[in-house]
Amino acid sequence: MRVAVVTAPETVELREEPPLRVGPDEVLVEVGACGLCTMERRLYLGEKRFYPVAPGHEVAGRVAEVGAAVAGLPGSPRVGDIVAVDLLTRCGTCAACRRGRSALCKRPQGGALADGTVSFGAGLSDHVVVKAAQAYRTGAAPIEHAAMGEPVACVVHSLRLGGLRVGDRVAVVGAGYMGRLHLALARHRGAAAVGVIDVSEGRLAEAREAGAAWTAVPDEAPDRGGKQDLVVVTAGAPGSLETAVELCDDGGTVVLYGAFPKDLSVGVNPDAIHHHELSIVGVYSQEPQDWQEAAALIASGALAPDLDALVTARFALDDVAEALKLAATAPVYRVLVGGR
Ligand SMILES: [Zn+2]
Ligand SMILES: [Zn+2]
Repeated sequence: MRVAVVTAPETVELREEPPLRVGPDEVLVEVGACGLCTMERRLYLGEKRFYPVAPGHEVAGRVAEVGAAVAGLPGSPRVGDIVAVDLLTRCGTCAACRRGRSALCKRPQGGALADGTVSFGAGLSDHVVVKAAQAYRTGAAPIEHAAMGEPVACVVHSLRLGGLRVGDRVAVVGAGYMGRLHLALARHRGAAAVGVIDVSEGRLAEAREAGAAWTAVPDEAPDRGGKQDLVVVTAGAPGSLETAVELCDDGGTVVLYGAFPKDLSVGVNPDAIHHHELSIVGVYSQEPQDWQEAAALIASGALAPDLDALVTARFALDDVAEALKLAATAPVYRVLVGGR
């Protein structure tokens, strides 16, 4: 089977690897599509230098083989099912896992290819093997939608920790891929209105087409959108926390979803947080219950038009170099790789 390995900045090769073996509680998945996310972009560009590495963690495909211990188990995937797979394995043993916060697992399980190459998912490949418990059925949804299982699970997690309620006024800071998924899910979940804030007029126009009730550049957001119950920051740029806090109404919540520059610190007014009962919540990654919901949402088709609009391009595995180049150098939502 073939797997894409990034060996140096802007250098990717398709390697031939021995066929994968399926353990008793695992499934073999024939990769249909794998999304290219920030991690892949950074590895490809050399912003994160960690070579050789087999990236690709947003994987969906068809179950080709099922381990003996889980075959026929009610609820477990069967041969032929389309599944989205969770390639982040938690230990279940550390303090974070025991508290039900496995997104913060202290001992996440990494993988490696047969030759020792570090795997960050290794989903840019013909096949992956995962625990059956980490393969979530997406029904008859298109493979492009199934491959959005991981990011949709992250957004389910984000709105769960942010405490979104029906009727809330919501603002999303950042109109990139994750901002657009927040827009889609918050609308689906019964937000009264979802506004989107970004510096790009082009992306704001696309957000309006996708159902944003209002859009604004950061400076104009307070006038345009008014006060909000929930503000989700998906673009961790300097100034965005301050904008978000300013937008919050009494009792409102700011969710910090996107990564911020590591050395950035900002001043917030503690008395304003106290007097207005504001919450500032950090969210990171996803957990199995978020996956369960994300897969069901994708299978339901409720988000289909939203997800369709976010597929920028799809490439066969043979063209993985071209796909990585596009994803790393052009403004895209999602570029997908997989299949022949
Ligand atoms: Zn991702
Ligand atoms: Zn753990």
